[in-house]
Amino acid sequence: MDGFRWDYFDQQNLDFPGFRRMFKTGVKAEYMIPDFPSLSYPNYYSIMTGLHVESHGMVGNFMYDEKHKQKFLAGINVAHKHPFWWDDGEPLWVSAEKQNKRVHMYYWPGCEAVIRGVKPTYCREYNILLTPHVRQMKNAIIESIPLFKNDSADVVGIYLETPDKYGHKYGVNSEKLNHALEEVDQGVMFLQNKLKENGLEDKVNVMIFSDHGMTNVSDSRVVNLTTVIDMADIDVIMDSGPTVYVWPKNNKIDKVYNDIKRFRHPRLQVYQKEEIPERWFCRHHYRIPPILLVADSGWYIVHPTLKQIFSYFDSGQMRGHHGYDNIGKDMRAIFVANGPDFKTNMIAKPFHNVHLYQIMCHILDIKAAPNNGSWSHVREMLRYPPAVPVTKPPINPSSSTVTKEGVKSNASSFKCQSDLKLCFNMMLLLLVVSFIKKSVKQLV
Ligand SMILES: [Zn+2]
Repeated sequence: MDGFRWDYFDQQNLDFPGFRRMFKTGVKAEYMIPDFPSLSYPNYYSIMTGLHVESHGMVGNFMYDEKHKQKFLAGINVAHKHPFWWDDGEPLWVSAEKQNKRVHMYYWPGCEAVIRGVKPTYCREYNILLTPHVRQMKNAIIESIPLFKNDSADVVGIYLETPDKYGHKYGVNSEKLNHALEEVDQGVMFLQNKLKENGLEDKVNVMIFSDHGMTNVSDSRVVNLTTVIDMADIDVIMDSGPTVYVWPKNNKIDKVYNDIKRFRHPRLQVYQKEEIPERWFCRHHYRIPPILLVADSGWYIVHPTLKQIFSYFDSGQMRGHHGYDNIGKDMRAIFVANGPDFKTNMIAKPFHNVHLYQIMCHILDIKAAPNNGSWSHVREMLRYPPAVPVTKPPINPSSSTVTKEGVKSNASSFKCQSDLKLCFNMMLLLLVVSFIKKSVKQLV
């Protein structure tokens, strides 16, 4: 569920009977920490690969790849289908298909791409002109139930854009967002009811998570670089708002950096690539630009090619955004799960979203690709956790990054409580926010 902020559940004027039913019958994390930048594509992929951004290479929603001289414009251009954007990581659906599991994905960004030579058994492509809302989610659930019953799917992933869309357009605490969240909850209740009606309640694991949170933005909190950056010095500049990616022309890196530094905006952080904090686990990928600009939470960077806060044709200026420092409270995401493999009525400690991939592999009884996940942070949620974790040798998950693996999932000792054939797994991607786990990985 895109952009579902962790504390939406705590709003006094909102009730979440569908989610509350899941809290009681399963596990709820206090919150989940996203990867940096707390944008969608980086986190879709951190969740599904278990890798940090610098290893999987999905460094933003709007990216420039110098090596291939191509731009990636989230949900807009067809260039995003080129495998090179994705191939540094191995998402769950690829790991699963390679090991003879069948994965059906609804609107899941990236399922349309051929990654490491593999596509899921079924992919209903995300279409920016048709935002996947609760109606599409319910239809996908209706289509999925028979797949589980007749043993033709092992994993179903459903992407829901509603919380993100309403958060961006109307802002946190807006009536329109709150109404949308109630509808989302009805979708969760619908799912729980459908599973029960079909006798799948104890056979299907449901995991609901989001990629990041949301915070309100306003034109009273703008970092205006329109006269600070001289476009004559710039090769490529991508995105606006919380993060801006800058590729200066040859020999202009220091000039552009110094121009922005001299501006001394108190709400703007300016980094040359080597200055980007290690704790963000993003700077070692080649797609990270020579200069990265990051605003403080709630502030919005504009520059010569994107001079204003984004406006929607129907609702006007954007009211909410995300992409800020991933330890910010407003960027936190959700994780909720129930089913045969999860404990009941449990509140789990916060964890980083890179730990999810290994859990999904474990439940599916497949071997996980090298990843940055660590069992110590998430094993308490499972009824049948893997045997004592094994320390693995260093891994090199991307061509550009050497990452040292800490504790990793290994061949799993897990057996589903019920017949394995019936032990299906369904996931819903809610907008995610998660936090950085400091002990997860050490860079070599
Ligand atoms: Zn998102």
